[in-house]
Amino acid sequence: MVIRPTAHYSMGGIDVNTFDDMATVVPGLFAAGEASCVSIHGANRLGGNSLADAVVTGKIAGNGAAAFASHTDFGAGKRLTDLTARWQDRFRNTTNGGDAKQMYAIREEMGAQLWDNMGIFRTQSKLDALSSTLADLRSRYDALRVPNANPVYNTVFTEYVELGNMLQLAQAACLAASERKESRGAHTREDFPKRDDANFLKHSMVTMDDSGKMRMGWKEVEITKFKPEERKY
Ligand SMILES: Cc1cc2nc3c(=O)[nH]c(=O)nc-3n(C[C@H](O)[C@H](O)[C@H](O)COP(=O)(O)OP(=O)(O)OC[C@H]3O[C@@H](n4cnc5c(N)ncnc54)[C@H](O)[C@@H]3O)c2cc1C
Repeated sequence: MVIRPTAHYSMGGIDVNTFDDMATVVPGLFAAGEASCVSIHGANRLGGNSLADAVVTGKIAGNGAAAFASHTDFGAGKRLTDLTARWQDRFRNTTNGGDAKQMYAIREEMGAQLWDNMGIFRTQSKLDALSSTLADLRSRYDALRVPNANPVYNTVFTEYVELGNMLQLAQAACLAASERKESRGAHTREDFPKRDDANFLKHSMVTMDDSGKMRMGWKEVEITKFKPEERKY
């Protein structure tokens, strides 16, 4: 029997502006569940439960999206038609030949590299090595072609899009892990074993500009009734 590690949960996620409706900075885009970042679990969701994310934020985001839809004109605006044309071009250019094996090779290598360099225990040198490997995998991905031009139920193209998203998420996580020079929750830095509230009691925010460049930013933690304390067990 083949046994291998897999992802249990992605901590963090798409930032929401307000927990009243789960709206994001993109008008009309609402985030809920594991994909969103509602920060109710601190740095360790595995010590909690996904139910709160999925059920509570799902309901709030659903209500938010319905309220937005009730006063929005969904006529195909220029931005929407431009984006559709961009995806159609990408589909045409990506599915004109190629070898799916190369795509699976990138995916395998990404998984192995993440496991080895950004698994449970992390160091700056491992994260630096991972960052350059991911950049290399990204260039290989950008040159990739997949061999199925069927516009209907094209699972190879779906996997191709998913792989691009996974690489992007890996790069964002690697940048945030590299900048967070402390240990907290599931982020264990062997070179910075202590939790450091003086410098890192804040959310890691990674944004990407139109050129694809990622930037690191931070957001204050809102502390209300319960003061943060180090977990001593
Ligand atoms: C092996 C394993 C064990 C786990 N055990 C536990 C546990 O014991 N306790 C616990 O609390 N949590 C556990 N979790 C985590 C928990 O299952 C997830 O956090 C939770 O199910 C996420 O729910 P969700 O609705 O946010 O997302 P998901 O359940 O991932 O739902 C997202 C849905 O969106 C669909 N989708 C994706 N892209 C598109 C698209 N472009 N268009 C349309 N649809 C799309 C997907 O197909 C999927 O159905 C476990 C996870 C795993 C993998």
